[in-house]
Amino acid sequence: MPEISKPIPAVTPDMREFFEGARAGRLMVQKCDNCGTLRFPAHDLCSKCNSTGSRWVPVSGRGEVFSFNIMHQLYHPGFAKEVPYAVVMVELEEGCKFVSNLLGVKPHEIKCGMPVEVTFEKLNDEVSMPKFRLRAEK
Ligand SMILES: [Zn+2]
Repeated sequence: MPEISKPIPAVTPDMREFFEGARAGRLMVQKCDNCGTLRFPAHDLCSKCNSTGSRWVPVSGRGEVFSFNIMHQLYHPGFAKEVPYAVVMVELEEGCKFVSNLLGVKPHEIKCGMPVEVTFEKLNDEVSMPKFRLRAEK
């Protein structure tokens, strides 16, 4: 039976700048033009002030594990070799939260507060996905 690969996100117009940044090794989030609140993923409206104006800005990619969930159920055959795997919510230094995976740490060894930094996993010429790895605490 052929191996089924993981789904690759589509580069939609509203996410174009995010994926351009990721290809260049920069983590991008949306910033509200009115109040400056950072957000991810992309939304039409700011959840704080309801403004529709926003732009993409680079962030440090540094933060800490805010929360995580260990996935035991197989929801897509492309993940069959990885179950159980962890989905982590990282709180970036800039205050925005970002959902991804933590590389190099076994799911049951992940702890809230672990210091992490972004790294990028190239899936194809168009899409690189931000992932996180442990960083030395400073
Ligand atoms: Zn706002």
